[in-house]
Amino acid sequence: MVQIGLSPPFPLRSDQLLDRDRCLALDAEDPLREFRDEFVLPEGVIYLVGNSLGALPRHAPERVRRTVEDEWGAQLVGGWNSAGWFEQPLTAGDRIAPLIGAGPGQVVVGNTTSIAIHQAVAAAARLRPDRRVIVSDARNFPTDHYMVQGLAEALGYELRDVSEGRFDDVAAVLLSEVDYRTGERHDVIEVTARVQAAGALMIWDVCHSVGAMPVDVSGADFAVGCTYKYLNGGPGSPAFLYVNPRHQDEAVNVLSGWYGHAEPFGFEPGYRPAHGVRRFAVSTPHVLSFAALEAALDVWERVPLHLLRAKSVALGEIFAGLVGDALELASPADPERRGSHLAFRHPHGYPVMRALIDRGVHGDFRAPDILRFGLAPLYIRYVDVHDAARILLEVLDKELWRDEKYARRLAVT
Ligand SMILES: *Cc1c(COP(=O)(O)O)cnc(C)c1O
Repeated sequence: MVQIGLSPPFPLRSDQLLDRDRCLALDAEDPLREFRDEFVLPEGVIYLVGNSLGALPRHAPERVRRTVEDEWGAQLVGGWNSAGWFEQPLTAGDRIAPLIGAGPGQVVVGNTTSIAIHQAVAAAARLRPDRRVIVSDARNFPTDHYMVQGLAEALGYELRDVSEGRFDDVAAVLLSEVDYRTGERHDVIEVTARVQAAGALMIWDVCHSVGAMPVDVSGADFAVGCTYKYLNGGPGSPAFLYVNPRHQDEAVNVLSGWYGHAEPFGFEPGYRPAHGVRRFAVSTPHVLSFAALEAALDVWERVPLHLLRAKSVALGEIFAGLVGDALELASPADPERRGSHLAFRHPHGYPVMRALIDRGVHGDFRAPDILRFGLAPLYIRYVDVHDAARILLEVLDKELWRDEKYARRLAVT
């Protein structure tokens, strides 16, 4: 019998994991249970894709309506001053900071993760001008690796894979805290210390960890992340960039747009960087996207992050325990080494996922053979993972995925 020794509501024994009533009881005792009501979740859907696009915060439509009608409609261009649009990259940054272990004046919001990666890696490289190597992880989310590849080519740097484990001639290292495919989680503190001891700068991508657990990038040199996954900022919501205060007045923003200028409305002929993290702003913020993000951050202000992690681990253990040997677990078996999603391998992963979605269980598929289930602890219940696992077992057991209507690939998997 497997003993799962975790903080409340554990320990549970594996035979108890199978019990739906036990899951309902866990939901009733869940200290995070009220947060589910903050989100719109369609009837009949078990939404296990919050690691890709978070759910809609219930008050986001009203928040967006206010920006459109009361601000844009009524204040027109005056909104840049009177509605705080101009300062949004910094005010939203200060609200995200506590979610990643950072302080005020250390995070700027805008653009996309890919753009923030370009900024962070270029800035880190310039802070180590005597070194000509950038380390990346070929298994990372492709855009991370592609962005580093493009920059290394443009700068004439060597691009080295992290698997080589050599950092002594390296300028900068870019890694993800949680692997988007397998859910494997790096030890941020330990890896940062090792990279920095070799004289390199450490850049963390926290796209798959922020909002799923407490994150601490305060020892890193830079960090980037998106806000539309576990943070629930809405499709295409802006990304964030953390710059350690020790670099802020030295680091160069190669995307030297007017928003990072010391005096954007001085309209000077030359670029002069602003002080602090503001210099990493690039251009006009996407005000409508910020409105939805602000609504999500209203919720985050009240979330006890340590409870989030305990629940995330518990949800993962229940789901993995129920699936058992029916599928090969591609994620680490040790929950401490995982993020908040589970990945399983199946040679027919795509039709299996389509068959699941047809039955109300929404996960996603990542080529070549990975089924991913995101367990957003803010709004996923214990009974949801119980029911999802049961439906998955049925789809596998009865081979419901063999129906030919599930074979055709859609553009977004
Ligand atoms: C989701 C994700 C991105 C997204 O990049 P965009 O520029 O927003 O398209 C980048 N990196 C990682 C690790 C991600 O998980």
